[in-house]
Amino acid sequence: MQQITHMHVWHIQLPVNARRDHGIGSVEHSVDLVILRLRAEDGTEGWGEASSWSVFTGSAEASFAAIDRYIRPHVVGRPLADRAAILADARYAVAHCTEAKAALETALLDLQGRISGLPVWALLGGRCRSTIPLSCSIADPDFDKDLALMARLRDDGVRIIKLKTGFKDHAFDILRLERLRADFPEFDIRVDYNQGLHPDTALSQVRDVAGFAPTFIEQPVKAHLFDLMARIRDDINVPLLADESVFGPEDMGRAIQERIADGVSIKVMKAGGLTRAQTVARMAGAAGLTAYGGDMFEAGLAHLAGTHMIAATPEITLGCEFYQASYFLVQDILADPFPVKDGEVIVPDGPGLGISPDPDKVAHYAIQRSGT
Ligand SMILES: [Mg+2]
Repeated sequence: MQQITHMHVWHIQLPVNARRDHGIGSVEHSVDLVILRLRAEDGTEGWGEASSWSVFTGSAEASFAAIDRYIRPHVVGRPLADRAAILADARYAVAHCTEAKAALETALLDLQGRISGLPVWALLGGRCRSTIPLSCSIADPDFDKDLALMARLRDDGVRIIKLKTGFKDHAFDILRLERLRADFPEFDIRVDYNQGLHPDTALSQVRDVAGFAPTFIEQPVKAHLFDLMARIRDDINVPLLADESVFGPEDMGRAIQERIADGVSIKVMKAGGLTRAQTVARMAGAAGLTAYGGDMFEAGLAHLAGTHMIAATPEITLGCEFYQASYFLVQDILADPFPVKDGEVIVPDGPGLGISPDPDKVAHYAIQRSGT
């Protein structure tokens, strides 16, 4: 039974090729991520990523400290086979910091998979799909740039987009929806407010947007406003999705009880790991809710974690949004490109996550590192 002998942590900054405005905040110039590498006695390595966003889940600085200072003592020197015990200890070693815990479980599964010769999806219960439809987010304040991106997406075979709304004004949202419906009729269009609406005007604005019949409308109001989410859900005839309102299984239970949504955006980073994300999906499925494979501003390593999780989770039927490695980052950190073809993410079938980061790229973008 192999022990985990080493842990390395990097805080990296990856340049991005556009500005992205969301209801809760903007991203420009670069994204901050934390990369974790574990090593076993035989030298095998497993990698994980914490994709933090300060306004959503928390800061990269917090993720770095959570892993390096508080989680490290529960990992190094322990048997890799004690994965559940390690994760349980890490969960209570530091409050919140769900992205740090997601990075830990990703690295443990990658390491176990590489040692045993099994893909991560096989360790998560087995594969239910080998491809996942890809959605790309439309969120540039310069709409002309997004129209150019739409043409590129269409050429690439992508057929799902999520329009980010609620960051400027209602007229801008309606204008963009009209233009996208007219010029890109072949696209499945979803709408995501990222909590951007004021409670006083949310209902009337969401009604207008529902008139465009998007596939779903996501998180129009602040995460904690469960009553208002339930009222909006009752009022419109388009499915309402919860994102920021539901991080882990605990939130999912309350969301089901209070009937705040018809579906849920499930993210490895919010749930605090791949198996907890699967639990959220199973709870949603059992309650008759749909599920979507959401993500944060991620590099390809976190995309891979989400891909393996969704590959082993039948309840997540609405596709995924793992577009950043292909369409947003100036350069990803993976040694081989994150696998996307004809608008679908291809589920890797090699051991572990199937693709590893290029250590030189990780080092190149690092602004802080720790470990021996
Ligand atoms: Mg969202």
